[in-house]
Amino acid sequence: MTEKALRLKAYTATEETESEKQHVVLSFRIKPDNMVTVYRKKIEGMIFDFDEEEYFDDFSPSEGECIYQGFPEITRSFAKICDFDVETGATYAYWVKTENSGGRITGPVGVKVRDPRVWWHFDKIMDRMYALENAYENASCIPVGETVTHKPLVALFAGNRERLIAATGAIHAAESGPEILLSCVEYLLKHHSALLEKVGIAILPSVNADMREEVVCGLPRYYRVNKNGVDLNRNFSANWEEVGTGYGLSTDDPKCETYRGPYPFSEPETKAVAEFIRITNPKVILSYHALACITGDGMLCAKSMADDENHMQRIKGIASSYSSGFRTKAQDSTSDPNIPYPHCSAGSLGEWSYQNGYYSLDLELWSGGCLDYFADSKKDLTTAEMLERNILLHQNGIVSLMTYLSENT
Ligand SMILES: [Zn+2]
Repeated sequence: MTEKALRLKAYTATEETESEKQHVVLSFRIKPDNMVTVYRKKIEGMIFDFDEEEYFDDFSPSEGECIYQGFPEITRSFAKICDFDVETGATYAYWVKTENSGGRITGPVGVKVRDPRVWWHFDKIMDRMYALENAYENASCIPVGETVTHKPLVALFAGNRERLIAATGAIHAAESGPEILLSCVEYLLKHHSALLEKVGIAILPSVNADMREEVVCGLPRYYRVNKNGVDLNRNFSANWEEVGTGYGLSTDDPKCETYRGPYPFSEPETKAVAEFIRITNPKVILSYHALACITGDGMLCAKSMADDENHMQRIKGIASSYSSGFRTKAQDSTSDPNIPYPHCSAGSLGEWSYQNGYYSLDLELWSGGCLDYFADSKKDLTTAEMLERNILLHQNGIVSLMTYLSENT
């Protein structure tokens, strides 16, 4: 977040120790010999997926506490002040007052201190991928593109290259993906090498890596779009010109969180996904959605697939094999059979995959049965324990799907 006058930004940083302790960094531009005062207020009640940045404007520094007063060190015109006294899970608003500007106060900027065990930093994701490549002969990393800010987008392959599941994560920044997918591939490499010889898996765990990292580093609200403000899951060249109005938003409006972009494949991340699919030529595509690092086995498939009985039949088999593994582990006896819902809209990966002859499913968190346990993830209240439990279910779902694919070519 930026406040224009001082270019004030607030973000979290994580210590590279076992405890991964976090602090908030305030960075701002300032002239030398300028006394600075920092105010902070802990914010209760902000609703993820509902409240916008403007939510913070309602607060005033007089409600906050003074946490710093002095003359900060300046490097290349910028001062950095760290707040070490922060709680994981808490949201804060910060203001900065500078004496030389007549005591002008800049802010507030909001920052949420997220648990780095739940929300993995980009570096951690990359480290894990290359560690698996180094540790296992049947694992390898392949670059498929980059993000708007030139972060590398790297896919991890494990097992059989001829018969693959391709899985993408975090195409929407604040949703699920890297934590589940990397944990699942690590589990498969450790415990299912024979099955991996029959059916491999390739993952592109954090498609929207730029904005994902900003969310990990404290952007308090829910984000879907990439750094250019484009919903990557509306940017594919499948009925792209059709304007969608889901969630009461319009895909041709650059101000909306479902903005489809200026033209199909305008975004480097969308191109990277297409390249990823091209080189994997997968038997099944899985795309992980739902808020705050957790998802269920609620399945969506392409809208235009609804009348294609053959395709639907095969998709049902794929979905139910995943669900049977997922739900056995969840001991979920209450749920009805999982039937994919044709809902992926114009410009989505699901629709584009179908039009290119692939079997593709989005995974969403639908409530009911065992999944009530995860309902708090919608409010950005995912804990490390919830995530761990969710990963176990997906491990079982993927093993079940791989087994199904090994028997049903
Ligand atoms: Zn999504």
